[in-house]
Amino acid sequence: MTIRLQPILFLLVLGVGGLLACAFSPQESSRTGGIESVDDARLVAAGEETDSWLTYGRTYNEQRHSPLAQIDEGNVAQLGLAWAFEMGTRRGLEATPIMVDGILYTTGTWSVVFAIDARTGELLWRHDPRVPRSQGGRVCCDVVNRGVAVYRGRVYSGTLDGRLISLDAKTGEVLFDVVTVDQSKPYSITMAPRVVKGKVLIGNGGAEYGVRGYVSAYDWQSGELAWRFYTVPGDPSLPFEHPELAEAARTWTGEWWTVGGGGTVWDSIAYDPELDLVYVGTGNGSPWSRFIRSPGGGDNLYVSSILALRPDTGRLVWHYQTTPGDNWDYTSTQHIMLADLAIDGVERKVLMQAPKNGFFYVLDRATGELISAEAFAEVSWASGVDPETGRPIEVPGLDYRNETVEVRPSPHGAHNWHPMAFNPAAGLVYIPTQEIPYFFHVDPNYEYRPGAWNLGFDHTVADEFPRDLVSGHLLAWDPVAQKEVWRAQYTGPWNGGALSTGGNLVFQGTAHGTFVAYRATDGKKLWEAPAGTGIVAGPITYRLDGEQYVVVMAGWGGAFPLAAGDAAAAAGVTQAGNIGRMLVFKLGATTKLPVVEAFERELAALPADFDAELVLEGNHTYHQWCSVCHGPGVESGGVLPDLRKALPAIYETLGDIVLKGVRVQNGMPRFDEWLGPEDVTALRAYILSRRAVLLADREAQAGAAE
Ligand code: CA
Repeated sequence: MTIRLQPILFLLVLGVGGLLACAFSPQESSRTGGIESVDDARLVAAGEETDSWLTYGRTYNEQRHSPLAQIDEGNVAQLGLAWAFEMGTRRGLEATPIMVDGILYTTGTWSVVFAIDARTGELLWRHDPRVPRSQGGRVCCDVVNRGVAVYRGRVYSGTLDGRLISLDAKTGEVLFDVVTVDQSKPYSITMAPRVVKGKVLIGNGGAEYGVRGYVSAYDWQSGELAWRFYTVPGDPSLPFEHPELAEAARTWTGEWWTVGGGGTVWDSIAYDPELDLVYVGTGNGSPWSRFIRSPGGGDNLYVSSILALRPDTGRLVWHYQTTPGDNWDYTSTQHIMLADLAIDGVERKVLMQAPKNGFFYVLDRATGELISAEAFAEVSWASGVDPETGRPIEVPGLDYRNETVEVRPSPHGAHNWHPMAFNPAAGLVYIPTQEIPYFFHVDPNYEYRPGAWNLGFDHTVADEFPRDLVSGHLLAWDPVAQKEVWRAQYTGPWNGGALSTGGNLVFQGTAHGTFVAYRATDGKKLWEAPAGTGIVAGPITYRLDGEQYVVVMAGWGGAFPLAAGDAAAAAGVTQAGNIGRMLVFKLGATTKLPVVEAFERELAALPADFDAELVLEGNHTYHQWCSVCHGPGVESGGVLPDLRKALPAIYETLGDIVLKGVRVQNGMPRFDEWLGPEDVTALRAYILSRRAVLLADREAQAGAAE
């Protein structure tokens, strides 16, 4: 069900609107046309189509820079909310909308697709793929989706349960709906598809649960599989699906295929039409620890890598592994951006990535050769990247098998999926950067559980996630000099994606509930608007009837808000309910977001005199099965309900919820495959002990205030 506010149209002062339209008329789009004519030629030339936003990163090079300059550093202070569209969700919104032909195509939670009038905010159609809510227990990082692709009158989207769907762009009617994964395994799709040469490219996620990664290409019209590239080898006693896997298999030891190996392609894809190469980023190894995954060592190709593939065949042309033998959940699925840069006086065709591992990579995108790599955040796992071999120089002694080791960056990454942006005039890449440590410790009792969370880690150490250790900032990075130019500091991590515009502006939403514009060249904050909740998505801009708009999806969620508890809730913007919206801004608009008052229920004290051993057992069970969504120490990060603050009936019926799935329709999966009534008893004891700690803290604070 979608709840939508009546869009409030902004009444533009006609004289001003006309003046602005005239003043910027040289920027008229060089090509226009309906969505039926979005073909290969139009996608290749998307950069010249200034008024639209045709593909995920705006262009195949994924620079997220729009030349539109009607909104600029001189007038951005007059930017205001034109309208807001209620997405009908209180969980994370990560989508980058597409704008073509006056229509915005975007996605909400549970893989629902929306077509919205880009002038008025009126809903044109909506497609709900009816993802089974039990799937909520098979995704690491919220029930999110990052958006659609459009091609020849169609809209393409992936679903949380692993399907690729083709919709009629005019009506939302389903043209095909194909299953791209083995649905008996914990695969999921959250990424936006990309269309290259008539093929729809789509990967998947699930490496925290134990799957084998791959990227597939489907025919745009029929939905037939054209090719599939597996990123890690399967059982070597069986024939390999493609020859690259024979080489890869030599870099693995043990019986990795029984757990899957990982290397999932869950976000980034870029394309160079001239070189005819598709670039995909691959994810972490599965399980996380190489000590478990590949006990005899090895690089474990092609996890944590950038792959250059032929779009017609899926054959590998080159690969570059950012984290050989990944031991830290250092995915290389982060944003891949292409640009032509003058380096040492020579024009180079480069590929840039700031993966989780904390190094900013500049590669020659024709060959995969490393040009440079420097740390853009605090890095404790490696002292640098060897320019000769292209390999990281690992810091010795970080063996976390028998002791807890603090490592930076954390599995949340120095940079995660939040899109970067590039301003070609300023020569700067804007990176949503974060500083989060992590405490690694192998679970000595780990055993593989098919379909379940399979990190092989002991998370009990994270009972109280230290909020004062985490921070975030927008980093303006010079990719040629490999150095910081400016930063905008925030109180917390997990801030939104970036957008660069011809108005010398960078836009970014923040975890603490604002949407901000900075001067691109020096980072001076020029404008800010309230968003009602934390923003994680990347903004876009477009122009219609001579007016420039800036759009962002606002909805707090994803991995950090689910898994980091109090450290994620510290921003405090979600107490009013995390109401997900698409926010659309233009000059002179004055619409106000409806204010929702924060509400805190009185908490009754409940019995908490449990046996210490039972509480400890519940602690272990909680951090094995529950904390990834409900937060360490039972502290909610503001997306899901805080279990310490539940009504007494919830604790009384905990067995029905955990073992019988009575709340599956709310996205709470059942765990009876792995847990029994005695586990529920221990869980209840631990959760209630945490409630008692919360109440005691509050009482102490109240006492101190008197
Ligand atoms: Ca991961």
